[in-house]
Amino acid sequence: MRTRIIIGIISLAIGLFAGAKLMELLGREYIVNNFPIPSGTLDDKDVYIKKIDIGLEVPEKKLKKVKEKAKNIILFIGDGMSMSQITALRLSQGGPNSRVAVDEFPYSGKVLTHSANAIVTDSASSGTAFSSGIKTNNRALGVDVNGNPVENITEILDRSGFVSSVISTSEITHATPAAFVAHVSSRYLSDEISVQMSNSNIKNILGGGRKFFMTEEDGGNREDGINLIEKVKANSKLITHKDELEDIARYGSEQVFGLFADEHLRDTNTPENHITEPSIKEMLEFSVNRSKNFIMNGCNGFFVMAEASQIDWAGHGNDYEYLMREMLDLEEGIKWALEFAKKNDDTLVIVTADHETGGLLIEPNDPRKYENLDVKFSFNTGIGRGSHTGVPVPIFAMGPGSENFTGTLDNTDVHKALLEAAYQDNSGSCVSN
Ligand SMILES: [Zn+2]
Repeated sequence: MRTRIIIGIISLAIGLFAGAKLMELLGREYIVNNFPIPSGTLDDKDVYIKKIDIGLEVPEKKLKKVKEKAKNIILFIGDGMSMSQITALRLSQGGPNSRVAVDEFPYSGKVLTHSANAIVTDSASSGTAFSSGIKTNNRALGVDVNGNPVENITEILDRSGFVSSVISTSEITHATPAAFVAHVSSRYLSDEISVQMSNSNIKNILGGGRKFFMTEEDGGNREDGINLIEKVKANSKLITHKDELEDIARYGSEQVFGLFADEHLRDTNTPENHITEPSIKEMLEFSVNRSKNFIMNGCNGFFVMAEASQIDWAGHGNDYEYLMREMLDLEEGIKWALEFAKKNDDTLVIVTADHETGGLLIEPNDPRKYENLDVKFSFNTGIGRGSHTGVPVPIFAMGPGSENFTGTLDNTDVHKALLEAAYQDNSGSCVSN
């Protein structure tokens, strides 16, 4: 027994000595790069599960007073977009030394995204935080945790003569655009959301979702039997083809519903429709140009919320190519807005996100070889499962009031900073029905 222990100790010592000698001879680098890593260690992950209390009230960010106010606000929301999605776009577009549109913004910060009842938010709750400045529960839209309606930014700015637009690449009744118009206890009440949209003062409502305005009898999704598409045709202007975005003079002061797809834009089930569906940039250009007409006719300014909805879906689907297509669509829209803001210094442009989706990782393809230009992009949450993550998202700002979009903001602070920036004279609505 004693002899065995002694032999054991001696073998260990020899082993350690030999290992150290080998390290010395070959260099640590060589060993790390050339010896096989024991199986399992690459894919194994340490997983911690921990209950986190949401805790006390949200600390409110102290905002600087904005003297030169913004008469126009363009708010981009990349649904599911954090720094890794932006980095992936930059790398894929032109490598690490290239620059994407958000790199041009003079101010940036980070936004905390949790909701009133969850560490990981959904788009309804975070959309409501941006739009109404309150923490609410996941799934709630424009209502507080008790279900009471809370005024949203388009309603607030309407009182000061702003004309508003909402744009999305999902069905327009989806959570993010709905947060800027509707007040409902659940994002899934799409029948009610679309009715509230048609009754709103929003002048450009552009995205997908024709089926959400049609009855089940007519092949739509509505369970309430209301033929809303007929009502929209009667009271507003319905357009379904991107060519109809060209001649803005046709629309006068009517509310325009652009419903360019049965459900979301660029649905792979209906590729034949893609030719008639506009990009974010095309919808934005239309909304801004129409807004300028409203300003010529007495409005003080405009507000546009443009959402790249499907960055989130690409994250849910763990689909890199899809992610890049959606990031590029947003990129073109941001570039257009930057050019507009450079010529119109009373315009505030904000780019942010409601949450990250997919846990996108960017790492060397071979983790043993950093000196390698093959980059592996992978998602760290399951395909198709609930896979938003709880990391902060970036925010970028250019124009009047930008200085408040720096440091760390709660998502409710974004609303407050937008209102601090916005010109408000309470002169009344310039577009009321
Ligand atoms: Zn999502």
